[in-house]
Amino acid sequence: MSETFRAILVSRNDDKTQTVRVEEMSEADLMEGDVTVAVEATTVNYKDGLAITGKAPVIRRFPLIPGIDFAGTVLSSGHARWKEGDKVVLNGWGVGETHYGAFAGRARVSGDWLVPLPETMSPLDAMAIGTAGYTAMLCVMALERHGISPDRGPVVVTGAAGGVGSVAVSILSRLGYHVVASTGRTSEADYLKGLGAADILDRAELSGPARPLGKERWAGGVDAVGSHTLANVLSMTSYGGAVAACGLAQGMDLPSSVAPFILRGVSLLGIDSVMAPLALREEAWHRLSEDLDRNKLAALSTTIGFDGIIEAARAIVDGGIRGRVVVDMSA
Ligand code: NDP
Repeated sequence: MSETFRAILVSRNDDKTQTVRVEEMSEADLMEGDVTVAVEATTVNYKDGLAITGKAPVIRRFPLIPGIDFAGTVLSSGHARWKEGDKVVLNGWGVGETHYGAFAGRARVSGDWLVPLPETMSPLDAMAIGTAGYTAMLCVMALERHGISPDRGPVVVTGAAGGVGSVAVSILSRLGYHVVASTGRTSEADYLKGLGAADILDRAELSGPARPLGKERWAGGVDAVGSHTLANVLSMTSYGGAVAACGLAQGMDLPSSVAPFILRGVSLLGIDSVMAPLALREEAWHRLSEDLDRNKLAALSTTIGFDGIIEAARAIVDGGIRGRVVVDMSA
């Protein structure tokens, strides 16, 4: 008989409410795929919080094991790129949304979705980064491609004390940028300065309705917040600057005008991590292994065990989590 493992399973009731429970499962219960992985580490992202609480329709197939990220070891493979014992990372591709996800002892996925775990990283390191950190890296790479180098001026990071924000602050400061960290938790100023933020900005300054154009304050930005915040960030971006937009913590709307685009040549760079092509993922993970200070990674992450996942998922949607939550599946 095959080994069993614990999994978090979300199901939908007739009245459209969700039930979340821990189940004992075996490999035979997993969905189709050509690689089976022992999940050694995972993480709780904002999106996982939305999935578990049902606050947004992240889960599009019930019942489902949530969890959009994992790192672990290949147990069996029918895929040409992978063999037993390989260390792998997975982010996105609909895992934890339409395909059984990371909050289980085992995962079976398509080998096309996997990226090699960088040699210098442990599964726990990779999950301290997770989709949030890998998205932060995609944002930084997009700014670089747009020519926003440190000498162009400051860069702003919104939602700075969150997962994407904390990693973005760390990477940008390590690369030599002057980072303005916008946060609602000004009590976390020391934490953000420890990650490399040069200035702390109270997010209240950016969360109200934006004027078409404001004073030019930064050459670029990483925005994890959307809505009025992104509108304000755009209106305060200097001539020829660029903002990488990846999140919607304040809202999905963008109550802005075209003024920053047509009068200052500002660019809005859209960032998607879920369906990002393999080459971009591999570049991002390679860059993360070089451009992210591991001491800062340790400072921005908290480690929990499998039993803490559901509680952490609820806390993250209430804005109660600082930095990154890593799940050690052996704990
Ligand atoms: P976190 O919850 O860790 O961080 C979000 C941060 O946003 C909070 O910590 C808070 O920062 C800030 N925030 C929360 N609510 C508000 C509000 N009402 N107004 C202004 N700021 C607010 O989430 P993640 O970092 O994991 O994700 C951030 C966003 O990025 C999410 O919307 C997520 O869905 C999105 N995302 C998108 C991806 C993509 O592929 N495009 C991939 C990964 C994430 P502070 O306390 O500092 O103010």
